[in-house]
Amino acid sequence: TTTWEHEFNTPVFKGKVSFPTGVFVDGKFSAGSTGKTIDVINPTNGKVITKIAEATVDDVDRAVKSARKAFDTVWGLNYPGSERGKLLMKLADLLEENQDEFAAIEALDNGKTFSWAKAADLGMSIGTFRYFGGWAGKSHGKVIETTEDKLAYTRHEPIGVCGQIIPWNFPLMMMAWKLGPALATGNTVVIKPSEFTPLTALRMASLIKQAGFPDGVVNVVVGYGHTVGAAIAEHMEIEKVAFTGSTLVGRKVMEAAAKTNLKKVTLELGGKSPNIIFNDADLDKAVNWSAHGIFWNHGQACCAGSRIFVQSGIYDEFLKRFTAKADSLRLGDPFATDSYQGPQVSQIQYDRIMSYINSGKEEGATVHLGGERHGEEGYWIKPTIFTDTKPNMRIVQEEIFGPVGVVIKFENEADVIKQANDTVYGLAAAVFSQDINRAIETAHKLHAGTAWINCVNQLHPEVPFGGYKQSGIGRELGEYALDSYTNIKAVHVNLGHTI
Ligand code: NAD
Repeated sequence: TTTWEHEFNTPVFKGKVSFPTGVFVDGKFSAGSTGKTIDVINPTNGKVITKIAEATVDDVDRAVKSARKAFDTVWGLNYPGSERGKLLMKLADLLEENQDEFAAIEALDNGKTFSWAKAADLGMSIGTFRYFGGWAGKSHGKVIETTEDKLAYTRHEPIGVCGQIIPWNFPLMMMAWKLGPALATGNTVVIKPSEFTPLTALRMASLIKQAGFPDGVVNVVVGYGHTVGAAIAEHMEIEKVAFTGSTLVGRKVMEAAAKTNLKKVTLELGGKSPNIIFNDADLDKAVNWSAHGIFWNHGQACCAGSRIFVQSGIYDEFLKRFTAKADSLRLGDPFATDSYQGPQVSQIQYDRIMSYINSGKEEGATVHLGGERHGEEGYWIKPTIFTDTKPNMRIVQEEIFGPVGVVIKFENEADVIKQANDTVYGLAAAVFSQDINRAIETAHKLHAGTAWINCVNQLHPEVPFGGYKQSGIGRELGEYALDSYTNIKAVHVNLGHTI
């Protein structure tokens, strides 16, 4: 076991953190089977924060064995739902007690600001564990009346060992969205955090142990996608895989499931969400929300409102105010209280976003604001606005996953709905109008799993989240999430019927 120690001395958090890292299998940390390590990088300056053990395909096997044993002996149908709920509540309490520490680790590792990490990532993660803790033991089957000589009923049984693969943009929150429903319904888990942002997941491993979850119920294997991620997707004894990440990799996960044991698959994938502002919108509010829609979390949000459609009557005024708002967002140290935006997560993402910005320029769009790096070191990109785009440009069609929005003029409702739906994605959409009938009508016509009216990026543990079209399969959060982690068994009892 290696212990990571770090002294934070920032305006918002001071103190020493110290916790074990490694491959967390069967309640114990260890080095991976090869002894190799992964560098964890600070995105503000590109320097190594620490090295952590690299999990391997063999470690996934060990983790699955441990998860299977736990499922068959101390968890699953052997452990009452109400007791599982208590452990999830305890985990939520522990996370709440340590929320500043978690927010600081997340800010250091990911580059998001401490204040947003605390308000959004920690708030949602704590809320999600509590919400699913409340469901444990409350999701149950039904008695179904058929004929009088038969008793028929259903049982909601846990599936078994679940594999979970998560991205780097909301490292802790994605872990909470995955673990909450899986554990509430009695499954055991092998979870793979992103190799770019593993620290909060490893800290969580200790908290899970402290909360009292039996060994093997949650196993945390930090490794690379093509090794550990692929091994999870292909594993014959993993009966369900839940994946959040890019559409490209989601397709590979589904293919691997199809080629092996047809494990159940849920996918939360990318987006290119439309944000529609009608002439009658409250302009100041629409401007503020729209900026938050595309620039929050540095544009690294799957539901980012990256295509901003503005009706012609207010287009010029909107663009003026939106530009001023974007220009006023402070890029700076994630631990400074006045920073809104930190660096992108990695060199790879920085390069990817810059190549999209270049493609926009080459294809003839106008860089209205930004379009360049910020500062001398690290992975910072200025808030960027493109105008004069065409529908088939890459910056209009493809997910950039950075602080880059396109502003597009539209004339009428029919025209904007057609353009908004002209995408392979269908994760989220937003509509701004003070005419509630128009807003609701438009929201209903958009092909998206979430539609926001006069707001953006609103998420609640109680409300389902997921995609239409190539943005995904299944729903996370809310009561709907429980369905993805249960097998329904129908039982027929003969009360006297003869053939
Ligand atoms: P990614 O697809 O590259 O990686 C996601 C995870 O998959 C990582 O843990 C990675 O290691 C793993 N992985 C990579 N290759 C794999 C393989 N061959 N088999 C199995 N696993 C593999 O995505 P990312 O860059 O980490 O995250 C950004 C993407 O995630 C964006 O497209 C974004 O829209 C999406 N996202 C979606 C949601 C949502 O809820 N819909 C939420 C957050 C992020």
